[in-house]
Amino acid sequence: MAVTTADWTDPIACPFCGDELASPGAGFVDHIHESATCEAEFEFWRENISDDVAGEWAG
Ligand SMILES: [Zn+2]
Repeated sequence: MAVTTADWTDPIACPFCGDELASPGAGFVDHIHESATCEAEFEFWRENISDDVAGEWAG
């Protein structure tokens, strides 16, 4: 399944691979550091949104 649009309706799961996160937000940041695939997906996603949302994840 090609994931081109992140689905943030379930914030405790990675929207790219579906893995459960240790915690919303911070858990996702840890997750993308461990998953190069998800990190790449996240970077791609972040480039396609405006700064208003990206700022929340800058951590
Ligand atoms: Zn993931």
